Amino acid sequence: MDVSKVVEKDDVAEGKNKGSHSGYDAIVIGSGIGGLVAATQLAVKGAKVLVLEKYVIPGGSSGFYERDGYTFDVGSSVMFGFSDKGNLNLITQALAAVGCKMEVIPDPTTVHFHLPNNLSVKVHREYDDFISELTSKFPHEKEGILKFYGECWKIFNALNSLELKSLEEPIYLFGQFFKKPVECLTLAYYLPQNAGTIARNYIKDPEVLSFIDAECFIVSTVNALQTPMINASMVLCDRHFGGINYPVGGVGGIAKSLTEGLVDQGSEILYKANVTSIIIDNGKAVGVRLSDGREFFAKTVISNATRWDTFGKLLKKQDLPKEEEAFQKIYVKAPSFLSIHMGVKSEVLPPDTDCHHFVLEDDWKNLEEPYGSIFLSIPTMLDSSLAPKGRHILHIFTTSSIEDWQGLSTKDYEIKKELVADKIISRLENKLFPGLKASIEFKEVGTPKTHRRYLARDSGTYGPMPRGVPKGLLGMPFNTTDLKRDHLC
Ligand SMILES: Cc1cc2nc3c(=O)[nH]c(=O)nc-3n(C[C@H](O)[C@H](O)[C@H](O)COP(=O)(O)OP(=O)(O)OC[C@H]3O[C@@H](n4cnc5c(N)ncnc54)[C@H](O)[C@@H]3O)c2cc1C
Repeated sequence: MDVSKVVEKDDVAEGKNKGSHSGYDAIVIGSGIGGLVAATQLAVKGAKVLVLEKYVIPGGSSGFYERDGYTFDVGSSVMFGFSDKGNLNLITQALAAVGCKMEVIPDPTTVHFHLPNNLSVKVHREYDDFISELTSKFPHEKEGILKFYGECWKIFNALNSLELKSLEEPIYLFGQFFKKPVECLTLAYYLPQNAGTIARNYIKDPEVLSFIDAECFIVSTVNALQTPMINASMVLCDRHFGGINYPVGGVGGIAKSLTEGLVDQGSEILYKANVTSIIIDNGKAVGVRLSDGREFFAKTVISNATRWDTFGKLLKKQDLPKEEEAFQKIYVKAPSFLSIHMGVKSEVLPPDTDCHHFVLEDDWKNLEEPYGSIFLSIPTMLDSSLAPKGRHILHIFTTSSIEDWQGLSTKDYEIKKELVADKIISRLENKLFPGLKASIEFKEVGTPKTHRRYLARDSGTYGPMPRGVPKGLLGMPFNTTDLKRDHLC
């Protein structure tokens, strides 16, 4: 089903549905990938689900937008979980649950790192090719490199042998323990450990350790010492096992397909439905209230909004679960991003350019600094249908905090946006693509304020990050809350 048709249908539904509505098994606040997977999993089991989305299309950070013949990914472009093997292909499984399958294009290189001292490393799809390239740059650390990534594989293989639905659901994990005790014990051993500590057991060269920091930073926005080993292993191995696969037509197709599947199952999605509070009755989440006054009631309420939006805005202070206070002691909001979406003339990119790049030119110390490192995706290298003929898409982003963009007049805000974006583009021009600026045909810049507005994420945050060095995944909360009938996804 075309998304515009879904929107039209729901505009009609909005007109009819004034007032109060009940009879749902579950309400899901938000149609990001998390919300849609939760909704479709329930719908296929026969639940009547209502998804309420503030924006006009589904997908959130994994959504899309169209301008001047370009289809841009809002956020995600490096897609994990999209293979046809193993147990960790969670996107493939989520789509299959509602009878959908998307055509994907295998990405030969997960990411091409461009690092200080002109260190260039391609993470090839084939593990052996990646290891050969990395160890050729650091032959003196060959053994340590093999041992570190070898430990990652031990964890990955344990995870991949489980029927992985959730690492955050205690009863589910308990059940898995009896089916696969050895694998569960392996995971339990690594549960409190971080990737940086394990890397230091084997590797001494600070440059290799910094490389592993960059490996972790691109998925977690923190260095390896702060990244749980289980999380690191999942991504550092799945990129070789299942590979990175780009969906034909753009990442937004995943949310579109899940939405279609949801509606086919007899459940509903409403757009322009801004939930402003979760209704609590006797300590139970029983429904939600929208900004236009409508109320919806259900047996279960699931929030796909961030923790800060759920617990800071949708629930009143007195309704905050105790575990949330504990969570906020360990985790803080990660910064947001400055994003630049560009359409450029194809000639500016060499034909063998990789799809995904990570650039940190001069100093490892800048890795985690705002605007320090640059992420770049060129999805048209894999799927040319996303741009007009003879054009490529560049999606560039770098970490940035909302505080940097507050208190400016509209004029100063616009000037600053152009200035900061121009510096980032100049860096890419100098490092990767001479003539880049002159080749720009389309450009749109988004700040943390843009992320906050269109993704409804507090301060535009990427998500939680540990305040200090976490005890691996041990401090991570489960996905239920102390409130009865309330869940997070
Ligand atoms: C720039 C960028 C690049 C990224 N790149 C990658 C990548 O390459 N690979 C990767 O795996 N991940 C990447 N990510 C991360 C990935 O996109 C996110 O982790 C994932 O999409 C988050 O999904 P979600 O469902 O948890 O939340 P979201 O995508 O934030 O969805 C939440 C939804 O809830 C809605 N909502 C919130 N509050 C309300 C409310 N009160 N009422 C109604 N609706 C509400 C929002 O509008 C939104 O649609 C990237 C993220 C960004 C921002």
